[in-house]
Amino acid sequence: MRATIECHPMSDKRPAGGPSLLFPHMSLALAEAEAAAARAEVPVGAVVVSATGQVIARAGNEVEARQDPTAHAELLALQRAARQRGTKWLSDATLYVTLEPCALCAAAISQFRLLRLVYGAYDPKGGAVDHGPRWFSQPTCLHRPEVISGVREQEGALLLRRFFHDRRAESGGHARLHSLEAGGQTEYPEERGPPSPKTGQETPTVYDTTNIFARLLRGEIPCKRVHETAHALAFHDIAPQAPVHVLVIPKGAYVSSQDFAASASAEEIAGFWRTVAETAALLGVVEPGYRLVSNHGRDALQSVPHYHVHILAGAAMGARLVP
Ligand SMILES: [Zn+2]
Repeated sequence: MRATIECHPMSDKRPAGGPSLLFPHMSLALAEAEAAAARAEVPVGAVVVSATGQVIARAGNEVEARQDPTAHAELLALQRAARQRGTKWLSDATLYVTLEPCALCAAAISQFRLLRLVYGAYDPKGGAVDHGPRWFSQPTCLHRPEVISGVREQEGALLLRRFFHDRRAESGGHARLHSLEAGGQTEYPEERGPPSPKTGQETPTVYDTTNIFARLLRGEIPCKRVHETAHALAFHDIAPQAPVHVLVIPKGAYVSSQDFAASASAEEIAGFWRTVAETAALLGVVEPGYRLVSNHGRDALQSVPHYHVHILAGAAMGARLVP
């Protein structure tokens, strides 16, 4: 569970401020995605909205129910909207969808002559708008909607992560779920790493919402806070390994350094590192100096599966790499 569920804009295409208020229809799309998960469908939801803000149609994935790999939420919502209106084009309409559309759906969006596409989570594997074929940039694409991406992306991605995490747990943790890779929509997150030869533990890639830092972010356990910003929290380590030992964690649900770099928005990454620097300033360690340490994976003994950076200071660190 994320401690903050605000959208973190990925690009300057999006307005600043509270996007959950600026894009209220994304809530409906997210609700459709949740309803899809409850039906054992890959949780993707979509809503088609008119120029006056009226909801024309909404849908979640129905791939399993129909045994139709093309029954994607956005395609179903567009088809329903056109039927509802009795027109083949939806030139004044906006489609809200919780995941970056695939090639099939991107092409359909062009065919329906949609005015605007607003989508949530990025899909580097199966997406066709900002990844892969980048359909709207193809010379053969005859209609290009306005595209606003990354709106409440973490919420859309978290639904997918949870869904696939639960499915993995049910299937023994290793089986790839071919039947769930609906029409190019890819799993969140990437497959797990290989079992560790040392401990038998796998490199964590699935976010565990009960990890100690997630609980700390939710306020379930206390911490000695040093600094807090929109994107990060800094607090004293309970078992300090230097005179000053502070941990800085992003507020988003990121398992590791790799996960954060790959999945966090540019704003989250910038916000996180500014918080690290501000924390060092607040601690008064900028001038004498400080060391940053972040452990990733089994060889580095990453202890908590929520990305974190240690700030170590207050004494000469020496040349050692391990605190
Ligand atoms: Zn699709």
